[in-house]
Amino acid sequence: MENKLLEVSNLQKIYHDKSGEVVALSDISFDVKEHEFVSIIGPSGCGKSTILSILAGLEKASGGDFNFNKNTTIGYMLQKDSLLPFRNILDNCLIGLEINGTLNEENKKYVIKLLETYGLKEFIYKYPANLSGGMRQRVALIRTLAVKPDILLLDEAMSALDYQSRLAISDDIYSIIKNEGKTAIMVTHDIAEAISMSDRIIVLSKRPAIVKKIYNINFKEKSTPINNRKAKEFADYYDKIWRDLDVHI
Ligand code: ADP
Ligand code: MG
Repeated sequence: MENKLLEVSNLQKIYHDKSGEVVALSDISFDVKEHEFVSIIGPSGCGKSTILSILAGLEKASGGDFNFNKNTTIGYMLQKDSLLPFRNILDNCLIGLEINGTLNEENKKYVIKLLETYGLKEFIYKYPANLSGGMRQRVALIRTLAVKPDILLLDEAMSALDYQSRLAISDDIYSIIKNEGKTAIMVTHDIAEAISMSDRIIVLSKRPAIVKKIYNINFKEKSTPINNRKAKEFADYYDKIWRDLDVHI
């Protein structure tokens, strides 16, 4: 049994704004093991991004607690690639290291190696405008990996792309994360994306969110995300989760 990297217990989040209170999270508990790929799925507005913001330390929980079981560096990747248009691809990927004050020759070499390994060798000195949406998303992932995070938080990281690119980039992102030995929590509202990529899926109710179900995803022949979509078990999981996400929650 692999070690638990993260334990989340009874998280609650209430936002206060001019119109009053918004209870985003009611009671959220789950854990994540080292090297696991966990997806959080739920209807739009149910509080998925809020969970990642709390884990990343950008928002404070109103109740409950979470605990990383070792000193954990977090990488956070958002839906929009938010690459800076006036920096070339390499310089975009070095931003995190610059901000942390850890940019040195060794770290720079590591980033160049990642870019080369994951098909971006010819684009290292090109600008974001020269790249396709899928490639930019790959760059955004490498920028996130540059600071050597232990855990990646992916918030709808593929949803701005068209369907074909999303399929391809799912395979890329999945294999990069697995090859680099990372742990990932991915937020999505796309059932197929979650099933095809995850070891485990946490299904949330609509707002205020509670954990409705947790599925262990087991394919007899686990393959790449694109191939997993063709597996016999896929439709079964899809059907169950689709029912869970039904409006009558
Ligand atoms: P999801 O990512 O599942 O779509 P969010 O976590 O972004 O949902 O938001 C959950 C709920 O909290 C929504 O109703 C949203 O409007 C509200 N919310 C999110 N951020 C804030 C904020 N900073 N202030 C007030 N309400 C917020
Ligand atoms: Mg969101």
